[in-house]
Amino acid sequence: MSGLTAAALTTAHIDLGALQHNIGVLRERAAPADFMIVLKADAYGHGAVPVAQAAAACGVRNFGALDIPNALTVLAAGLPSDSAVLAWLHMPSQDFTEAVDAGIELTASTVAELDRIAGSRSSRVPVVQFKIDTGLNRNGATAETWPALMSRAAVLEAAGRIRVKGVWTHIAEASEDEDTLAMRRFDDAIAVAATHGVHFSVRHLAASSAAFRRADVRYDMVRIGGHCWGIPSFDGVTPADMGLIPVMTLVSRVTAVAERASGVRLAEIAAGFLDGIPRESRGRVSVAIRGRRVGLDREIGHSSTLVEVTGSDIAVGDEVYLFGTGEHSEQTVREWGDRTGTLGDEIVSRVGARVPRIYSGTN
Ligand SMILES: *Cc1c(COP(=O)(O)O)cnc(C)c1O
Repeated sequence: MSGLTAAALTTAHIDLGALQHNIGVLRERAAPADFMIVLKADAYGHGAVPVAQAAAACGVRNFGALDIPNALTVLAAGLPSDSAVLAWLHMPSQDFTEAVDAGIELTASTVAELDRIAGSRSSRVPVVQFKIDTGLNRNGATAETWPALMSRAAVLEAAGRIRVKGVWTHIAEASEDEDTLAMRRFDDAIAVAATHGVHFSVRHLAASSAAFRRADVRYDMVRIGGHCWGIPSFDGVTPADMGLIPVMTLVSRVTAVAERASGVRLAEIAAGFLDGIPRESRGRVSVAIRGRRVGLDREIGHSSTLVEVTGSDIAVGDEVYLFGTGEHSEQTVREWGDRTGTLGDEIVSRVGARVPRIYSGTN
């Protein structure tokens, strides 16, 4: 029982070597398109800074950060000077000065946003990317507002107040037809921009699913989150099927074992829903103790989980593999996602901030 300090009972092991392996597989597949790693939500719970550093070490130079605070965090990782960090979700009255000073690339979706970016108090010229909505209705300029945005972009660029870099959209990745339609709308928007004299050096729209499946959606760059963590986005597909390795392994400990009068043996695991075990996993998911599967079918509390075990060898202090690569007979996070009706991406992102991340595999 020695060494079972509360702080270390549940830990998330992040294999940066597996991450770099996945990035290698995915970059090769996407080539000649460039590769952006998407680091929102603290790199889906994997830790934005160490992940950014490991990605940079294997050649990645484009980082997607969602918002400015996260972009500043990513930059603090000390990335190579030719790196680009893109933010796209801004507060309604965002002051862009700090972001422009830091060299963060900013996405503009409206004329008002573009004017605020161009009007920052920074002495640097902001690098701007533009977002067009192509059917997902998740912000971005519409076909109606796009011409005015492009006309303003042309004026600001001619005045030396912005540098136009990219154009992008987000596609549903749900059906081939929808994605094809979104691509045509994207092409139309690029053509409209050209009539205003606005030209983009980087065009991008695909995330994990579409980028893996379809060459024609990759344009100049793909933006990848989920597949980098070794979580397949396709039904019935294992990480190994895609040549990927799950990056996060969540490990806890048995903290108590009790035998009921009925002969049933119960073990308490030191992780609950505050650590990121979805309560929906009760009765649906299993974990591995001593290489054997144990169903999470008793009780999931805020900080502990009760399971029924067979075999008298299971003891206090035993490691419990919640999810991971499968090496210890545990399920993968993809299987957890399938069984709980959510996405593996969501499960890793919800692993509590109080769970220490332990990194291995850097070079
Ligand atoms: C989250 C996100 C991605 C990455 O999505 P995955 O499916 O995890 O690869 C790409 N682009 C944008 C704009 C995103 O918000």
